[in-house]
Amino acid sequence: MHEFKYVNNQLYCEDAQVGELAEEFGTPLYVYSYHTLVDHFMKLKNALHRLDPLICYSVKANSNLALLKALVDKGAGLDVVSGGELFRAQKIGCPAQRIVYASVGKTDHEIEEAINRRILFFNVESMAELENINRISARLNRVTQVAIRINPDVEPKTHKYITTGKLTNKFGIDFNSAARIFSLRNRLSNVKITGLHIHIGSQITESAPYIAAINKVTAFIAGLKKKGIELEYLNIGGGLGIVYDREKPQTAEQFARKVVPLLEKTGLRIILEPGRFIVGNSGILVTKVLYIKSTPKKKFVIVDAGMNDLIRPALYEAYHQILPTRTKNQGSGSEKVDVVGPICESGDFFAKARRLPKVKEGDYLAIMGSGAYGFSMSSNYNSRRRAEEVMVVKDKVFVIRKRETHQDLIDNETIPPFLLGL
Ligand SMILES: *Cc1c(COP(=O)(O)O)cnc(C)c1O
Repeated sequence: MHEFKYVNNQLYCEDAQVGELAEEFGTPLYVYSYHTLVDHFMKLKNALHRLDPLICYSVKANSNLALLKALVDKGAGLDVVSGGELFRAQKIGCPAQRIVYASVGKTDHEIEEAINRRILFFNVESMAELENINRISARLNRVTQVAIRINPDVEPKTHKYITTGKLTNKFGIDFNSAARIFSLRNRLSNVKITGLHIHIGSQITESAPYIAAINKVTAFIAGLKKKGIELEYLNIGGGLGIVYDREKPQTAEQFARKVVPLLEKTGLRIILEPGRFIVGNSGILVTKVLYIKSTPKKKFVIVDAGMNDLIRPALYEAYHQILPTRTKNQGSGSEKVDVVGPICESGDFFAKARRLPKVKEGDYLAIMGSGAYGFSMSSNYNSRRRAEEVMVVKDKVFVIRKRETHQDLIDNETIPPFLLGL
């Protein structure tokens, strides 16, 4: 369920008219539904209640402080992948024991910071990293909990850029190398390996890849047990897919029915790291039609949002549904158009050869399903100010990030004196 719907030909987010939000706050504008966000989190939590898992929302999907706070207040933990995300987690008061930290390239400084904050554990992605965490922990006189990220070599059936659990991906450690790490673990006296971690990809719509990966790791865990090695945690990562187009992704209940029996048998504390599933359909990007341009071959709808605001179509060939914010007083009929942004790149598009209701200059369009990997991947390319973000709670609207100013764009830049003739 999500809270974006038409009432009397007007698109609403909860009880706020999206067209009015666009008028009031300007465009491009990210609009989030608080209740959709929280509902999705609760849906997963309830479906998995038998496991009583720790659900660590993946901060990189959307790292706005207001969204993080809303989720942490409902009992979520956070999955972070950088010192910056750890800083955000701390800013909103996320208990450190609900924070897990993954990344193939953690720096010494980031590792030290996370150890000092006493996070639950690191998801470790290589032997070299494990040795480094051990070294830093020794210097800080600490014993640090870690989980080994396994690369289970399964095919998640998603876009190649968001596949992470094949042996050709840079992520995780293969089973043989992991076994070697466990056999060497006594050499590393300042780390304690208490868990295993898998994260096989993103926008996964079926449970089969999860089942395959879980079966592989549970077999591995059984092997460890025979050698007298006991673990506490199994982190099954994120990746649950959502509806962008005509996908029929597994629901939380369907997912739970398949994986809960497998996970229960492990007797381990289960951790999940969903990002997209929680935030993806909680947000839209609202944009204004600037120009309609017809060429001998095509018709372009040129809008004021660009690939700097939402890069998914350019980066992943992603599909986003595009809806007008009002369906009345629209030109009659529909037509096939390319919806493109103002940026000087041919990759700057939101839809190609898409049949849309006829739109005219000044109309607003909502790019649906933009809550995950939307704002968090946005940039200042073309010296464009990053968009404003608002959160809707019933009929109340809160600005949760104001639009950047031109001054913001240059604040960290300096011109060397010699160029100024000084
Ligand atoms: C990106 C990421 C996630 C979240 O992925 P979603 O597809 O958004 O659920 C979880 N865990 C790790 C380690 C990640 O890198």
